[in-house]
Amino acid sequence: MSWETVIGLEIHVQLDTNSKIFSGASTSYGSEQNTNTSLVDLGYPGVLPVLNKDAVMMAIKFGLAINAEISRRSIFARKNYFYPDLPKGYQISQLELPIVQGGSLEIQLNDGTKKEVGITRAHLEEDAGKSIHDKFSNQTAIDLNRAGTPLLEIVSEPDIRSAEEASSYMQKIHQLVRYLKISDGNMQEGSFRCDANVSVRPFGQTEFGTRTEVKNINSFRFVENAINHEVERQIDRLENGDHIIQETRLYDPDKDETRPMRSKEEANDYRYFPDPDLLPLEIDQETIDKIAQSLPELFDEKVTRYIEALSIKQSDAEEIARNMQIAEYFEATLDHFSNDAQMVSNWILSEVIGVLNRENIEINAFQIKPKRLASLLSRVDDNTISSKIAKNLFNQMLTSADSADELIKQQGLEQITDEDSINKIVVEVLNEFSDQKDQYLEGKEQILGFLVGQVMQRTQGKANPRLVNELIIRQIKN
Ligand code: ADP
Ligand code: MG
Repeated sequence: MSWETVIGLEIHVQLDTNSKIFSGASTSYGSEQNTNTSLVDLGYPGVLPVLNKDAVMMAIKFGLAINAEISRRSIFARKNYFYPDLPKGYQISQLELPIVQGGSLEIQLNDGTKKEVGITRAHLEEDAGKSIHDKFSNQTAIDLNRAGTPLLEIVSEPDIRSAEEASSYMQKIHQLVRYLKISDGNMQEGSFRCDANVSVRPFGQTEFGTRTEVKNINSFRFVENAINHEVERQIDRLENGDHIIQETRLYDPDKDETRPMRSKEEANDYRYFPDPDLLPLEIDQETIDKIAQSLPELFDEKVTRYIEALSIKQSDAEEIARNMQIAEYFEATLDHFSNDAQMVSNWILSEVIGVLNRENIEINAFQIKPKRLASLLSRVDDNTISSKIAKNLFNQMLTSADSADELIKQQGLEQITDEDSINKIVVEVLNEFSDQKDQYLEGKEQILGFLVGQVMQRTQGKANPRLVNELIIRQIKN
C-alpha cells in the first residue's frame, strides 16, 4: 500500500517587544536567572496583567502580511494546567476569537514548484518559564525570566504533504517575521520553535489518519528529520496491523528519534475560560489601516523589483533578498552608488559574504559600511582603479578606517588610462616576447592573456586591462 503524509505546523514566535506581554519586566535574553520578573510574571495573587500594545501591533502586522482577517474583537482566555514553570497555574492565551484568522502563504520547493499553505489562525499568548535540570544534582531549578514573553502562535491548516514542504513553510514564516521585524527569529535562543502534527493515510482516502504531535523542534533540519522519522514509525505500525495513538511525542535530535511524552489532551482538559482580568481586545479599522500602510516590502516583491528595476540576475536577487539585513546593506550601498547594481550585488555575494562566513559575523558587524563600499566601487566604475586593485583595497579597508580615495592616493594606485604610456610598455613587452607574438599571429589567440599579464605586471596592475588588450592587438597587427 502507498501512504500519503499529512502535516500541520504550530509555530511559536517570540515577539521582539522590549517588555513582556502583560508586565513591564524586560524580555532581554541571557540575564541572570529570575531578574527579569515582575510580580505579574511570578504569579502573585492580587496583581493585574496589562496588555502590551506593541505585541498587538506586531500580531496585526503579521496577519496583514499573510492576507488574514484581523479580528476587530478578540478575547484572552486562561488555559489551566499545573507545571513548575507556570506559577499562576494557567497560561494566558486565546482560544475563541484569536487576533488573526485565516490567511495563507506561498512556499517554493527545491524543484521550483509552488504551493499555497493555509494558515488557520495566529493568536497571542505568554511564554512559560524554564525548568533547568542540569544545574543542581537531583534538583530542578526554575528560571522565570522567560515567563510572560509574548508569543505569536501560528497554526497552519493540515495542507503540508512532506517533510520538505514543512521545512520550506517553516523557513518562509521565519523569513517573514524577520522581514516584518517582529521577531529576531533566533532558534538557538528559542525565539522560533515549532510543533509538527503528523499523520498518514492510504493514498486516495479522504479522511485524515490519527495524528501525533512532535514537540521541541528548533531547526529546519530537525523538522525534516523528526517528520521523516515519525512518518516511518506510523507506517510501520499500520502495516503491522497496529493503530496510531493520538499523543504528544518529543523529538530527540541526538538520537534522531521521537518518543512518547504524554497522551494527547483535548481543549476541554484545560478548562479554558475568558480571563476576567483582561477586557476583550478591540481594534479599530483606523489602526489596522495604518499598520497596513507601514508594511515593508516583502521577499517576493523585493526579488521582483531587483530583477525588473535593477536588472539583477534572478538567482542573485533571491540570494540577496533571502536575508533582509543583506538586502538592506545592498540597498544602502546603491543609495551611494547606483550606476551598476549587478556589480554591487556581485561584490556583496562574493567578497562581503566571504568575509562574513570567514569571520562568522552578521552583516551588522561588518567593518565596511555601505557608503565606504560604494565609494570603492565608484572608483572601479569610473576606471580610477581596476577591480583587481579594488579587491586588494577591500581587504585593506577591513582593518583600516581610511576611505577608498585616501588609500588610492596614499599608494598611488590610480589606474593608468593614458594610451601613450601604456603603449610604450606594450611595445617593450612585444619586443621581449616576439615568439609569443608570432604564436598569436599563427592563430594561438589564448597567448594574448599571457601578454596582457606581462603588461599588467610592469604597471603593478594599474593599467586598464581592457585598454591593454586593445593596444596589444593593435600593435601586433601593425
Ligand atoms: P489542537 O488544538 O488539539 O492542537 P488543532 O485542531 O488546533 O488541534 O490542530 C493543531 C494542528 O494540527 C494544526 O496545525 C492542524 O492543521 C493539524 N492537524 C489537525 N489534524 C491533523 C491530522 N489528522 N494530521 C496532521 N495534522 C493535523
Ligand atoms: Mg496544539
